[in-house]
Formats: sequence, structure tokens, C-alpha cells
Amino acid sequence: MNGDYRDVFNADGPLARVLPGYLYRPEQAAMAKAVGAALARLEPLIVEAGTGTGKTFAYLVPALLSGRSVIISTGTRTLQDQLFRRDVPLLAGALGLPVKIALLKGRTNYLCRHRMELASSQGSLLGGERGVTRTLARVVRWAATTQAGDLSELTDLPEQSSVWPQITSTRENCLGSECPQFSRCHVFEARRNAQAADIVVVNHHLLLADLALKDEGFGDLLPGAQAVILDEAHQVPDIAAQFFGRVWSVRQVQLLMRDIPAELTNAGVRSTAVAQAVIDVESKLEELRHGLQRGQGRYDWASLPDAFLDVLPELETALGAIATQLEGLGAGAGLANCGRRAGALANSLAALAEMSDDTGLRWVDASTAGLVLQYTPFEIAERLREYVESRPCAWVFTSATLAIGEDFSHFSARIGLPEARTLRIGSPFDYPTQARIFLPPRMPQPQDPAFAARFIEVCAPLLEANGGRAFLLYTSYRGLGEGVRALQARFPNPPFPVLVQGEAPREALLNRFRELGNAVLLATGSFWEGVDVKGEALSIVAIDKLPFASPDDPLLKARLEGIRRRGGNPFFEYQLPQAVLALKQGVGRLIRDFEDFGVIVIGDPRLKTKVYGRVFLEALPPSPVISDAGAAAAFLAAHQARLRPALARASQAP
Ligand code: SF4
Repeated sequence: MNGDYRDVFNADGPLARVLPGYLYRPEQAAMAKAVGAALARLEPLIVEAGTGTGKTFAYLVPALLSGRSVIISTGTRTLQDQLFRRDVPLLAGALGLPVKIALLKGRTNYLCRHRMELASSQGSLLGGERGVTRTLARVVRWAATTQAGDLSELTDLPEQSSVWPQITSTRENCLGSECPQFSRCHVFEARRNAQAADIVVVNHHLLLADLALKDEGFGDLLPGAQAVILDEAHQVPDIAAQFFGRVWSVRQVQLLMRDIPAELTNAGVRSTAVAQAVIDVESKLEELRHGLQRGQGRYDWASLPDAFLDVLPELETALGAIATQLEGLGAGAGLANCGRRAGALANSLAALAEMSDDTGLRWVDASTAGLVLQYTPFEIAERLREYVESRPCAWVFTSATLAIGEDFSHFSARIGLPEARTLRIGSPFDYPTQARIFLPPRMPQPQDPAFAARFIEVCAPLLEANGGRAFLLYTSYRGLGEGVRALQARFPNPPFPVLVQGEAPREALLNRFRELGNAVLLATGSFWEGVDVKGEALSIVAIDKLPFASPDDPLLKARLEGIRRRGGNPFFEYQLPQAVLALKQGVGRLIRDFEDFGVIVIGDPRLKTKVYGRVFLEALPPSPVISDAGAAAAFLAAHQARLRPALARASQAP
């Protein structure tokens, strides 16, 4: 096999035999060659692969042919499943390689038999919640037959179900080798399978949790891996910051307060002192919730009221008291584990309260999931660098959005690898022919109250001319709400179906969009990336504003503060490049295939009026930039006219 994998990617090669409509793409072969070289030399590599490169196969081919043991980490569980169930087996078959593949998820995806038994024996404790006992009985029936213990097999068990934490383990509550169920444990079995595999597919949360905590059901794997390939790698720095910080959640304490009575019953122990200590902790949790004196949101530590901060040492003392009492009982592995957890929670609360604000930011996240107290370090680059350099292993970071033009310095600095080899692979799509970038004239400033209505006004003729088929992507929920109202005002009886984020789960909404074929979808947040709608159903992507992250977000504040403290310029070093990468992601929703066409609308006038606007424009695909709405509509009409005969033929086909 050549180092350039030409035999594999050629139009008459093994890929062409298994992939219908396969096209040879020199970009794909070039990426495979670079990945192959990194794997051979056990070096880090950062690759930006433009949309349409076929980057998944471009890293899988060298990974499979390298003969090395490889961990592939993806951004989402959906991608993880797709690699495990479809891409890797298909490719291994096409190449005739007998490869052992394993899928490894985080602990909370596997049944914990010990905790399921505890929960079953404590049915009365759970009985207050409607349907919980019935759900638990269903889990017990399934547990008798499951091989892998993967809870995704229970398709009708929602992740938000209060049963979920009762039947899964955490790093803290797992009894490990002391567990009576250890020999039948699904978590440890999944880990053993992964250790024996050539290719292990994980996701970034699992990989980074494991790097940071050394145990997520995965810790023993990394030393054996010779390559780690991170797809959708643009997400890695933010996820790493979560795991390299500290987290203390009310939910962890609540779970412990439920486990203690269950373990007491399990061990046949009665203790009024422990029962009273549990009541004390629960009442302190209540005081903490009230002390916050505000609703859902993220709050900087410095802004927290005394009524909240004063409860923290009392809670720490109450948790410490439970730890001491359980230790005194000396009754069995389950209760000993509860005692250790109480002690660890008390210690981590104390540590959090004393963290230095010089190295990171402390903040509170209040959401429907409960209160979470966090410490996020300003810099994670050093930690990541240590991991990468600590063992001979190739680390490949890839995504469609890592560079600003040809410059990778923003991303490579964030992951602590400023000297890593980089490669930018352009998209094989013909952007000058397939798309136009429309910058509407006379747009008000983004903060102007008239902005939302004007944005819809400039989009309206295109939506009409195109018969819908559009994404309207907003940079905030507030903007989305204003956009929905403006669209309703402009089209009281819209001539196309209108879908709005939040009406249904993300995947359901996207499927509906594809099925309808002429819908207009208004969305924000997660719809900016990882969305793939090929064909005519999507031929306009309209973006209201440049996606600068909210300056109120404490996490962003932490990062900006970190840059400021080392004498850097937060806007040019962080905010601007992040916004450019986010815009590239949003724009990347439009052209997903060689036959796709369409118009990108960007409503923000700062693209033309600010000096930094040039940085955004240079990062966009090389499509002609126009400011004439008539030209944009004519472009769409011309492409539709070209397609119409083909569509008519398709609809008449038997
Ligand atoms: S070893 Fe841990 S995860 Fe496995 S059954 Fe026991 S407590 Fe649960």
C-alpha cells in the first residue's frame, strides 16, 4: 500500500466498490496521506478539512491500515454510533481487514446492577414519584436479558428520568472490586472489551473526563493507544475546560442522601444519628437554594449573596458529620463508600470556597437540573500539552473549522500545541458557482430595536422567490424570539411551513424540515453546527448577526480575564477568532454536496463597516459577495430552473 493511499481512494478502488456514487477527491487523499504520516511518526497533527472533503474516511483509512491501536473521539454520541455501526465496519470490510472495534460510552450509559438492586429494595423510597416503581420493574426485567447493559437499548427510558441516576454509577459511588456484582459489571466489561479492541470509538466528554479524572470506565485504555483521532476537534478546548476545573453539584449530594438510607437497609443497620444528619444536610440544601435569590442562569461567584455563601461552610460541616458517623458504623462496602463520598463532597466544597481567583473563575450554574458550583481554569493549554507529550502517541485534531484563513494559531494555542504540524484542506465544492454571499444594504446596527424586522424584510423576497427552503440562524434566543415575531408580522399566512427551534427535539425538527422540502426553520445555538441537509430543501442560510459570544457569560469572562492577565488582547486573541469560526460553522450548513446551491445572507452591517469585518469575509467560502437582492433572487431562480426538468423527470419515474 502506498503512503498516499491512492489504491484505496482511486475511482476503481475498494471504496468505490462499497460506496454508491463514490467520487475520487484529491482533497480526501491528501488528508489521508497527512494523517498516515502523523500515525507513522507518532506526531500531533491539526487538520482543517473543508466541507465535502470526506474527512471521516480520510482518517479512518490510515487508522485502519496503520495496524496501530487507535482511539477515535467524536463530538456527539450520534456520530459515535455512526462510526461504530456504519463507517468503521464498512471500511474494514472494504479493505478486508479483520479489525476489532469497540464502542465505549461514559458510565452513566451502562446499567449498574448494584445500584439497581439497591433501588429495587428501596421501592418505598422512590414510590412518591409517579410511575417510578413501574419503570424500575421494567429495568429489572430488561436487566435479566441484556448482554451489554447499554441503557440505549431501553429506547423509551428518557435521559431526564429520575430512575436513571438510581440505576447507573458514578466514579464516586462505584464500589469497584468490592462490589458484589463486580464479576457481572457492565461498566467493567465494556472497559475490558475496549482494551482488547484495535479501534475504540469514544466521545470527547468521555475522553476528556478520563484524562482529567483518570476514571470514567476508560482510564486504562489510553496508555495502550498509539493514536488518538479527535473529530469535531473545535469543541475540544471548551469541553476540556469543564473537566480540568472543579464541579460540585447539589444533585450529587441529593443522590448520596438517597443512597444512605438504602445502604443502611441493605446492611440491616438502624441509626437515628445518621438519619438526623441526612435531614440536616437536606435542610442546608434547601437554605442554599433559597439563598441564591434568583432564577435560572450563570452567576459569577463575586455576585453571589451572603445568604448563599454563608450556607456553604455549614453544608460542609454537615457533610463532614455524616462522613464521621458512617465511618464509625463500620458496616459494609456500600456504607463505607457513602462515608467516603460525604467526606469527598465536604472537601471539594471547602476547596472550591478557597480556590484562587487568580487562576480561574468560580461561578454557579442554576438550571432545571439543579445548582452546580464550578471552578473553570483560565488556561487549559498546559494540561492538554502535558497529556499529549506524556506518551508516544499520535494525536490528530480535525474539524471543518479550526483555522482563520491559513492561520491555526488560535486553535493550536488553545490546545497547548503551538508547534504542531498543521494542514488546511480546501473544500472540493465549487463555491464560486454554487453559492452567493448576500450582504443586504442599509442594515441598522445589531443593537438597534429595528434590526429584527429589517432582517426579515430583506430576507422576505428571497424566501418568497425560493418557496421557503431556508434556515434563519440567530445568535441568541432573544434574537430568535424577535425574529419569530417579525416573520409572523411579515407573513401572517406564510406561503411556506415555518418551524421554530423548541417546538420539537432537534433531530425531530430537522427530519421534519427534510420531509417538508420547502420549510423555513428559525433556530439558534446547536443548529449552527453538525446539521446536514443536502439538496434543494435548503438553499438559503440567513444569519442575523456576527456570532460574538455573550459578554455576560462567566465562562467567557474567565477566558478573557486569563488572556488579559498574561498581557494579551482578549478581543483579537479570543473573541474575534471564535466568532469567525462560529460564522464558518453556520455558513457551512448551506453547501453540503456537489449539486447543492444557494445564497448565504449575513445581516450584520459590521462586516462592511468595521475593520475586523475583513477577517470574517476572508474566512468565508470563495463565493461572489453581492449586495443586490435582485441578483440574489435571480441566482436562486436560475438554479431552480436548471433543476426543474431533472425534478420533473424524477417525479415521473415509475
Ligand atoms: S462495580 Fe460499580 S458499576 Fe459495577 S455494578 Fe458494582 S457499583 Fe455498579
